[in-house]
Amino acid sequence: MKVVLIVGDGMSDRPLRELGKKTPLEEAHTPNMDEIASKGICGIMDVISPGVPPGSDTAHLALFGYNPYDVYTGRGAFEAIGVGIEMLPRDVAFRCNFATVSEDGVVIDRRAGRIDSETAAELARSLEGVKPSTHPDVEVLVKHATEHRLALVLRGPGLSKMVSDTDPESPQKPLEECKPLDNSPEAKKTAEVVNELTKLFREVLEHHPINRERAEAGLPPANAVLFRGAGTLPRLDPLSSQYGISFAAIVPTALIRGVAIAAGMKYIPVEGATGTTKTDVMAKARAAVDALKRYDFVFVHVKGTDNASHDGDYRTKMEMIERIDEMVGFISSKISGDDYLALTADHTTGTRARKHLGDPVPVAIYGAEVRVDDVRSYSERSCAKGGLCRIRGVDLMPILMNYVDRGRKFGA
Ligand SMILES: [Zn+2]
Repeated sequence: MKVVLIVGDGMSDRPLRELGKKTPLEEAHTPNMDEIASKGICGIMDVISPGVPPGSDTAHLALFGYNPYDVYTGRGAFEAIGVGIEMLPRDVAFRCNFATVSEDGVVIDRRAGRIDSETAAELARSLEGVKPSTHPDVEVLVKHATEHRLALVLRGPGLSKMVSDTDPESPQKPLEECKPLDNSPEAKKTAEVVNELTKLFREVLEHHPINRERAEAGLPPANAVLFRGAGTLPRLDPLSSQYGISFAAIVPTALIRGVAIAAGMKYIPVEGATGTTKTDVMAKARAAVDALKRYDFVFVHVKGTDNASHDGDYRTKMEMIERIDEMVGFISSKISGDDYLALTADHTTGTRARKHLGDPVPVAIYGAEVRVDDVRSYSERSCAKGGLCRIRGVDLMPILMNYVDRGRKFGA
């Protein structure tokens, strides 16, 4: 008995005027998802809590059965783990952006024109070895993630995650100063390090040949680094020790990969899986089927649906949904009769609102012993009529483990 969990990031949506008040999931052609819903048990899920828009990281913590309000230690840590930095218990991690900042310190473009990964990786390498002179006992680890994103870890005595972001969150606003969020000397020291690094990084980047070339080509220079989401190493009881089975993850997005690794899943890299709308979903599907030979539980994540929603692009979102449908069809045709397949989203991302929303997401579970209900299609509205009714994100993992006889009994 094995389990495949497929998550379409931000796949759930609200009815859209452009689609005649249907959602992208309702309007897209999804015969395979509909089959899972028809032969399975369906429901809707408040991933965090009704009306609370989940972040992708807290959402996945919940989907893996952890109460995010108990275990969440900030986004930076997951991003750092996701790019392969071994975090130590006292490290403080940030998720950073390359950005374009004017001479007088105004952020013009928070993503430096969505700089490509190769160029950004080279710029990130130029930041390695930069040391804060005010606190020479602090080591700085920098690693590129995808596109404009990088992870940064501060290592040394007396650091704290209680510091503010330098990212003003919207363009045309000045780069913020990092401030301590409590009165501890640790927060004060960390803020000083971040502010000095911000200056030092700007000096390095301003004179980097790549940025001179970008300026000549009329591209926005990646001349500053924005610091966001300070976090420390999360302490999660690994899933394998909780349930006594093995877990693997196919997830090219660094942040979600970090959550999966922190939960004790084995990360399986897949060539062609990019974490964007250009991803090769069938390569993921094949990798998932292959991983099922070696692991009991395989988590497959597709990010493109969320990217399209944030861009307000419902057509690309529907295309991504139809490609996920193809993936679902392939995987469901390869699993054996006593395996289970669950299909859901980590949150609703409104294509009109271009952000995460607190509406529940659809969930369908297909497998030999589910109580098949009357739902015949996979969508936000149809799944609401299913036998799972309305569950919370943290309920999903126990429900799946119960199906494969790994439920943890409470009481005598
Ligand atoms: Zn998400």
